[in-house]
Amino acid sequence: MTTAVVVGGGPNGLAAALHLARNGVQVQVLEAADTVGGGARSGELTVPGVIHDHCSAFHPLGVGSPFWAEVGLEKYGLVWKWPEIDCAHPLDSGDAALLYQSIAETAAGLGDDGVRWRSMFGDLAEHFDDLGEDLLRPIVNVPGHPIRLAAFGPRAVLPATVLARWFRTGRARALYGGIAAHLFSRLDRPLTASLGLMIAASGHRYGWPVAEGGSGAIIAAVSAALLDAGGKIETGVRVSSRADIPTADLVLLDLSPAQVLSIYGDAMPARIRRSYRRYRVGSSAFKVDFAIDGDIPWTNPDCVRAGTVHLGGDFDEVAYTEKQRAAGVMPARPFVLLGQQYVADPSRSAGDINPIYAYAHVPRGFDGDATEQIVAQIERFAPGFRDRIVATTSLGTEALHQGNANFAAGDIIGGANNGLQMVLRPRLAVDPYSTGVPGVYICSQSSPPGAGVHGLCGYHAAESALRHARVGSAR
Ligand SMILES: Cc1cc2nc3c(=O)[nH]c(=O)nc-3n(C[C@H](O)[C@H](O)[C@H](O)COP(=O)(O)OP(=O)(O)OC[C@H]3O[C@@H](n4cnc5c(N)ncnc54)[C@H](O)[C@@H]3O)c2cc1C
Repeated sequence: MTTAVVVGGGPNGLAAALHLARNGVQVQVLEAADTVGGGARSGELTVPGVIHDHCSAFHPLGVGSPFWAEVGLEKYGLVWKWPEIDCAHPLDSGDAALLYQSIAETAAGLGDDGVRWRSMFGDLAEHFDDLGEDLLRPIVNVPGHPIRLAAFGPRAVLPATVLARWFRTGRARALYGGIAAHLFSRLDRPLTASLGLMIAASGHRYGWPVAEGGSGAIIAAVSAALLDAGGKIETGVRVSSRADIPTADLVLLDLSPAQVLSIYGDAMPARIRRSYRRYRVGSSAFKVDFAIDGDIPWTNPDCVRAGTVHLGGDFDEVAYTEKQRAAGVMPARPFVLLGQQYVADPSRSAGDINPIYAYAHVPRGFDGDATEQIVAQIERFAPGFRDRIVATTSLGTEALHQGNANFAAGDIIGGANNGLQMVLRPRLAVDPYSTGVPGVYICSQSSPPGAGVHGLCGYHAAESALRHARVGSAR
């Protein structure tokens, strides 16, 4: 029987293990932390009974993942919950732009830009699954839907700052800007329009749901499916060298390229070793979780009904702060992504005490405390927020790294989304999962299709391993 060891039990490590196990491979997962889950853990962080997402929170790519759908995570207890409004982007005027799953409802709220929003995202949302088939895997493959891809391409290659000019109103521009900022990169460079287009379109196709009980419920379901398929999970095992990895036919690494280098660098072909060395670390996040009494007192009352709230002012301000941050300067008013998961999933609250999730985009490796800047950004659009805080837990870039060795310098997206590295990760190759060491593959978010709790990096890496091991695959 073919044997495999998966190092790292994040969403992609577990997905890789599950796909191998379902294809008859004897799999063992080794996870450094006490629990599996990586960037999809949840639990109490502030007061007893209040459940926070440690990292990932909103899952358009999770609910839309063809691999999770094939496994049927719902059979293993996963329940998705949708907020009424996916995302709100409040402005200083008291106005707010609102993203609904319904493109018609979103367009209706954007006034003069409604028609433009529909024409920008309507076809992408309608054909999102076709596009996803081509984009949520290594892009060097022959496209299955070349016409859809050709229609997406001209918009995707633009800088987000150029695409934003398509909209005439500050409301639509800000809404797009906040979504584009998920790229975690300056927005005036070619290709930076692409991620915002995909995330907005995924929202219109699938909504931005949360997992009932916390993002850890996704991991509980994947783990149950893995154990069901005969896989084994061992926690509390940090792999620092090859000696820590039991002998196996296949080794899949849910690790950053830097960790892969430190474990297998000497065995890698020099050309691949060089490209791993050149791989650039991404931007950093500073995370704060609050327990608050009641709801946030938003100036714009619609924001109370939104799962996600983007805090960064108008489009120009978002673009400016992202540029500052990328240049290593901590912005006075950083872009903040705020989550009100309890709006969709009240099971996370304890009585009137609700969990609030927020992280700021900060310069790489920022070693200061951004808690006050995050509170100030919330106060800017919700005066009186401060008085509702019952408890606060902050997690800086170093703490993020301590919690997960993949998050070097607080990089939560597995490598910079700059230029071609966004799609050609960790290197340009027909099989980017191969490390060049026979039987050893990278399967983390630093491989295609990149960040998100979709399990697709793991799935594609396992497919590659199965192909090469000639043990056959379900597909
Ligand atoms: C603050 C934050 C917010 C986010 N928001 C979202 C969101 O809303 N939606 C979304 O889809 N995504 C979001 N993400 C991104 C998402 O969490 C990641 O893309 C995803 O978790 C990547 O999965 P992975 O399996 O590749 O790696 P990871 O999640 O990093 O998992 C890797 C695992 O390997 C373990 N490990 C590391 N080194 C070793 C070692 N040497 N030995 C053994 N084990 C090791 C780690 O402990 C970890 O469990 C967010 C991430 C963060 C941090």
